[in-house]
Amino acid sequence: MEASLNTYQDEQPPLQAENFYRKHEKNSKLSGVKKDIEKLYEAVPQLVKVFKIKEKIGEGTFSSVYLATAQQQAGCEEKMALKHLIPTSHPLRIAAELQCLTIAGGQDNVMGVRYCFRKNDHVVIVMPYLEHESFLDILNSLSFEEVREYMFNLFKALRRIHHFGIVHRDVKPSNFLYNRQLKEYALVDFGLAQGTPDTKIELLRVVQSESQQEGSVHHSVQRSVFGERNFNIHSSTYQESPTIKLIKQSKVMDVASRKLATKKKIISTKAVNNGVAKKAANSCPAILTCDCYATDRVCSVCLSRRQQVAPRAGTPGFRAPEVLTKCPTQTTAIDMWSAGIIFLSLLSGRYPFYKASDDLTALAQIMTIRGSRETIQAAKTFGKSVLCTKEVPAQDLRTLCERLRGTNSSCAKSTSDMHTNSLYEPALAIESDKKVEFASQPLGEKIQHLKNNCHEGDNGLEIKITEKATDLKGWDRVPDEAYDLLDKLLDLNPATRITAKEALLHHFFKDIRQ
Ligand code: ADP
Ligand code: MG
Ligand code: ZN
Repeated sequence: MEASLNTYQDEQPPLQAENFYRKHEKNSKLSGVKKDIEKLYEAVPQLVKVFKIKEKIGEGTFSSVYLATAQQQAGCEEKMALKHLIPTSHPLRIAAELQCLTIAGGQDNVMGVRYCFRKNDHVVIVMPYLEHESFLDILNSLSFEEVREYMFNLFKALRRIHHFGIVHRDVKPSNFLYNRQLKEYALVDFGLAQGTPDTKIELLRVVQSESQQEGSVHHSVQRSVFGERNFNIHSSTYQESPTIKLIKQSKVMDVASRKLATKKKIISTKAVNNGVAKKAANSCPAILTCDCYATDRVCSVCLSRRQQVAPRAGTPGFRAPEVLTKCPTQTTAIDMWSAGIIFLSLLSGRYPFYKASDDLTALAQIMTIRGSRETIQAAKTFGKSVLCTKEVPAQDLRTLCERLRGTNSSCAKSTSDMHTNSLYEPALAIESDKKVEFASQPLGEKIQHLKNNCHEGDNGLEIKITEKATDLKGWDRVPDEAYDLLDKLLDLNPATRITAKEALLHHFFKDIRQ
């Protein structure tokens, strides 16, 4: 393995300037982390006595996560994860995140919490450390059986939090830690969680009622209680002023239509509030009536409408259709959709599966897999009308995943064919006029991945191909149950979408101990 890696590197001419730059970049990154660690000790001095902070393992918009060791009484060191929340986080939001961890965590693959430290506006949540793989690194080496276990364990975590009336809202691989060796799993990050109406997490109920007020009350710089990580802070601000709102809104629309235009203008979507369209134009002069209803344009009246207030947290590619269309009532079903997207990635070997920077593009991408008619139909059930310029059919999930993965269980294709396919074909071979952008693993990485797995020798790549013929890791025998479960997770209608409890009882898991 190492030998072939070296061979690969030897093929490259030495790039001294680049090496220098990389080294420099690495060094400055290191000293940056060192500084961050020092600052953290300064901000929360109680940590000094208890922890040795080793390195930064995660950095997002709203937190930094560090690996630390703690001296135990018995003399052994224990690894911990320290999550330092940005000081501007809303206190209620922090308290709710902690309450999710303390009440639902520590069991059934849900991350627990050990301690919490606070000084002034700095909060550090201390959790047991779970070493984990990067999803992208392992995606193409997972056996089918490992994927089955992974999904089973994800549903176990979701069943637990849904039982407590927690909607996670940000289910994605980086929030579901997986230790391949230990076969341990942990759902983390309740930073966007919300409660169901009957939630057992009291603070989520408070967050909820606070967020309802936020639709009208202007909050300044703090992380929104409401849940939207990137945009809501702005949206709650610009709702105050119709002029800014108009600009911002049309900007959003512009982006959407430009994106779609590059895709040969085939699919453009528009979500409007069913029936209440005219009434909703409460921020426009009354004499203006909408002239775009049931067309694929957005008129100026509609552009100046007050934005509908609905939780829209999460990552676009993992958002359920009811989230993308801003359906105000959202349930635990949105997490099941996200789990379905993870499953789709695992079955197709593509991550991220959907790469969309805005909601309408994400919705258009969903349509190309699940069908435009089906999407429109489902949206109607939750009170949204979606317009789409062209009809696109739903795809067969098995055919799609096998084509993307480069395997085919129904006919005995030659293995060398398979690998040529998975290496050189575009992520999704939809007819060109229906093309929508799908993210694929970069070709270079895939080749590197193959090369890394090659044995030493001149014709490493060929050896790999013949070797692979005997080890398809179960991907040539994916049962129908897998695609049946995927279909039920990617149910466009949240009311009929499979629940975590039901998923665990699905035939796909029939021989796994519950
Ligand atoms: P954010 O809200 O910034 O996304 P997360 O809670 O998701 O914060 O943590 C960010 C990253 O830190 C995770 O994706 C994971 O890689 C790492 N991490 C978080 N908690 C733990 C933990 N308990 N053990 C190991 N790594 C963790
Ligand atoms: Mg996270
Ligand atoms: Zn209109």
